[in-house]
Amino acid sequence: MPDCLFCGIASGAVPATLVLESARTLAFRDINPQAPIHVLVIPRDHVRDLAAAAADEGLLAEIATQAHQVAVAEGIADTGYRVVFNTGGHAGQTVHHVHAHVLGGRPMSWPPG
Ligand code: 5GP
Ligand code: ZN
Repeated sequence: MPDCLFCGIASGAVPATLVLESARTLAFRDINPQAPIHVLVIPRDHVRDLAAAAADEGLLAEIATQAHQVAVAEGIADTGYRVVFNTGGHAGQTVHHVHAHVLGGRPMSWPPG
């Protein structure tokens, strides 16, 4: 997947500010943060979207666990945080390498836009 931005980050070819790593995942700061804390958790390997991730046993559990660990490390686990998978066109997914957004550090409204 040479054209995938997040594969580039996973390989180190594209610079990013790392927050945490696990065996199969990487967490790094979003380049255009939508909250005081905005971190993306991705699988190191290219996985297209949530459907493909769901077919990979254990991967989503590791991503969700890592999302929580990011919240702990960033000091937002107690105040609360939001974890979002934008999936497909209506959700506005722009990078087609599955990623969980971890957002926090301010109160958030619901429903999302
Ligand atoms: P999506 O819209 O696909 O759910 O989210 C993609 C996210 O990737 C966006 O929040 C966007 O700001 C972030 N992003 C896009 N390009 C880069 C980049 O080069 N580096 C980092 N760290 N984040 C990026
Ligand atoms: Zn990729």
